[in-house]
Amino acid sequence: MVPNNPASEPLRIDAHGWCPQAQQLRSPNCDARGAGTAIDLLVIHNISLPPQQYGGPYIAQLFTNTLDFEADPYFDQLRALRVSSHFVIRRDGSLQQFVSTLQRAWHAGISQFGERSRCNDFSIGIELEGCDVAPFSDLQYACLCQLSHALHQAHRLVAVTGHQHIAPGRKTDPGPCFDWPRYHAQWIAGMPGEAATALPLFVTVEQKTQP
Ligand SMILES: [Zn+2]
Repeated sequence: MVPNNPASEPLRIDAHGWCPQAQQLRSPNCDARGAGTAIDLLVIHNISLPPQQYGGPYIAQLFTNTLDFEADPYFDQLRALRVSSHFVIRRDGSLQQFVSTLQRAWHAGISQFGERSRCNDFSIGIELEGCDVAPFSDLQYACLCQLSHALHQAHRLVAVTGHQHIAPGRKTDPGPCFDWPRYHAQWIAGMPGEAATALPLFVTVEQKTQP
């Protein structure tokens, strides 16, 4: 919630994989990562529930298995879903965390990054409240860059990518309205004194599915 306040201390990730400045809403939809698995990929998503409607409690409800299925006809198709993401950044730039970064959240599904499949095993997921057909807010970019920096400090990320790139043909988010060059530039601008080469790779091409 804090990123709205410019005077607040920078976001950080504690030793247990939680961001103290985020609203914590623990999801049961997570499990242990494999022993010794590196946590080195950041995956950007978008989500809105119902689609293209913002501000409701429904994303948090979905990720905590408490979705009010009667609230909208669209929700009926979500009944069997058991999903989560480590983080959600809402339109107002506020930050929610559902799963410790040390645990595996269930955000990527069937996916491939380079030689590695099952991206949930080694990645951290960030959901931006939004959709494929409208821009994200300035406050979201500000929070995303702060959070990305904190995650990179904590985990030494190798790369940042989109859900659409690790699950091509199956997923389209964060979509064409997500401004990758802006994200990259704003992240660098937020870390004065550090070289741009200190950033993880931005991988925004479709990853080939391995046979
Ligand atoms: Zn996604």
